[in-house]
Amino acid sequence: MKTKMALLALLLLGGCVAMKTAEDAAFRVVTKDDHNLLFHGTTQLLCDFRRDALDLVPAEAYCIGEGERAFVENPQEAYWDAFIEKGRFSETEPVSFVPLGRRRVVPVPEGITQFDTPGLTRNSVSYCLDRDGKRTVFAGNLIYGDGQILNLYDFQDRWEGAKIGGYHGYMARVPKLIASLEKIKALNPDTIVPARGKAIEKPRQAIDTLISRLQQAYLNYLSINALWWYFGAETMTASGHLIFGERVIPRMPEAQKFDMPPWLTEFATTRVIHAGDGSAFIIDCSGKREFERIVKMVEAGEIKRIEGVFITHYHHDHVPGVALLVEKFDCPVYCSPVCRNILERPGDYRMPCVANVPIKNIRCVESLDWAEYAFRFMHFPGQTLLHDAVLVTRKNERPILFVGDSFSPTGIDDYCIWNRNFLEEGQGYFYCLDVIRDMEPRPLIINQHIVPPFEFDDARIEYMLNQLRLRRELLSELFPYPVNFGMDPRWARFEPYCVQPGDAPRLIILNHAKRPLSFYVDGKLLFRNVPPGEERSIPWPLPRATQSVNIRCREIPALQTSTEILVSPL
Ligand SMILES: [Zn+2]
Repeated sequence: MKTKMALLALLLLGGCVAMKTAEDAAFRVVTKDDHNLLFHGTTQLLCDFRRDALDLVPAEAYCIGEGERAFVENPQEAYWDAFIEKGRFSETEPVSFVPLGRRRVVPVPEGITQFDTPGLTRNSVSYCLDRDGKRTVFAGNLIYGDGQILNLYDFQDRWEGAKIGGYHGYMARVPKLIASLEKIKALNPDTIVPARGKAIEKPRQAIDTLISRLQQAYLNYLSINALWWYFGAETMTASGHLIFGERVIPRMPEAQKFDMPPWLTEFATTRVIHAGDGSAFIIDCSGKREFERIVKMVEAGEIKRIEGVFITHYHHDHVPGVALLVEKFDCPVYCSPVCRNILERPGDYRMPCVANVPIKNIRCVESLDWAEYAFRFMHFPGQTLLHDAVLVTRKNERPILFVGDSFSPTGIDDYCIWNRNFLEEGQGYFYCLDVIRDMEPRPLIINQHIVPPFEFDDARIEYMLNQLRLRRELLSELFPYPVNFGMDPRWARFEPYCVQPGDAPRLIILNHAKRPLSFYVDGKLLFRNVPPGEERSIPWPLPRATQSVNIRCREIPALQTSTEILVSPL
C-alpha cells in the first residue's frame, strides 16, 4: 500500500512542496484526473467535503475543517437521511457533492496550518505550508487557474447581511469567497495549489482577477433582476454592496403597469378566468385554501363550471391545489409536453421547490378555444427550465401572456441557479424574450405573484437581451469550460432521480458545448461524441442503495461532476 502511494506521489506540483519518500513526515500532492490531492502519509487533507476528491487515491483517514467534519464522518446522518425524506423537495439551500459512506477523520498533522476559508462550500478550509523558504497555500475549490471557479450554483445560499433567503440567494456566498481570497492574499503565498487544475504561480494576480470577475457578474445580475420588485431597493443594494462595495448599480427602468382586466380574479398565485356563460378556467392553484375558495365560488354560483386548469410550473406554491381541483371537478389540466413528466412524476426530479403532488388528467395541446377566449400554451423556460406560459386572447382585446414566475416589472427571475437557467442564444431567458418580442400585437404580461399586468417595450427587451449577452461573456471567463456547464448542476443526472423496484433508470448527459464531447463514468468511457447541445442517455442498473458516479469529460479535463441516484425509502 505504502509503495503504491509513493509511486502515485511522483507527480509533484510546481516544485514547491518537498516530497520525501520517507513515510509519514512528508506532505505531498498527488495529481490525478485534474485533481490535486494533499496527503500526509496515508491521510488525505481535504479543504471541503466534495466527494469528487475522495477515493481517487486510497486514503486511510481524512482531515477536514470542523464545520464540515460530519459530512465526511457520517454523511448519512448529517445530510442524506433528512434530504431523502424531505429536503429534496424543498432544497432551498441546495448542496451538491455530499459524500456517501463513512470515513475516518483525524486531527490535522503538525507542520501545516489549517484556517477557515468559506466559499464554494459553507465551511471550507485552506492549509498553509512553509517549506524551504517558500509558502504554499492549498486553497481547495476557492479558485481555479488564473482567476476562475468551477461553478456558480454551489454559491446559492441565504445571504448574510441582506434579507434574502437561500432560494433567492444567487451568489450569496461570494462575499465569503472574496473575504477568504483576501485572507489568502494577505498570507503572501508563493504558490496556491487549488483542488483542481494547475498550481497558481501568480497568486495575487489570479485572486484579483477572480474577485473582479465575480463583482462584474453580480453587477450584471442586479441590472435586470426581478427581485428589485419583490424585495425592494434597500435589500438588493445591500447585497450588491457586500460584493462590490458602495457604487451606483445601473439597472433597467421599471416596466409600465396596467389595470387588471375585469374578467380575471386573483388570489395567492391563483388566477381565475371568467367566461360570459359563468364557466371558469383556472391558472395555478396554490394549495388547500385556494382550492376551498374556488369551491365556495362554485357553491355561491359565481362559477358555474370549471372547464380546465393550466399549470405554469411545478413549484409547491402553484400546484398542490390543482390535484384537489382534479379530484373534485375531474377537470382537464393543461401544460406543454416538456413539463408533463415533472407534473405527473415529481419525485423523479432533483430541482428546488418541487411540489410532491402528482397531477392527473394532463392534456398537452398547443391551443384551445374556450368560451370567448383563445389560449395558446407554450414551453417558456424562464424562472426554471421546466416552465410554461399561456397566451390568452379575449375577443379583440390586447392579449395577455401569463408567464408564471418568469418576469417582474424589474426584470428576470433567475435568482435560483438550481432552476437551470441556460445562457446561450435561443435558450432560457434569451428564448423567452425572443418569444415576447416576436408576438404581434405585443401582449401584456401577468406574473402569478404580481397583481398589475405590465409591459416590456422594445427598449426594455433589448436592455435585458444585451445584459444577458454581457453575462454570457462575463461568466464564460469565470469557468474553465462552456458557460452552461458552470450554471447547470444537472448536466449529468439520473432519471428517475429517486427509484423504486420496477423503475428503469437512465444516466443522462447534456453536452452544453458547441462541439461533440465524450464522457467517462467512473473511469469508463460510456458516452462517445455526444453532439453539441444534445442529451444522450444510457440505461442504468437499478441500485439497491443511494449511489453516485463521477463524470469526466475526455476533451476538457476540468469538466467533471458527480451525480447521484436515490432509492425510495418506501
Ligand atoms: Zn411561485
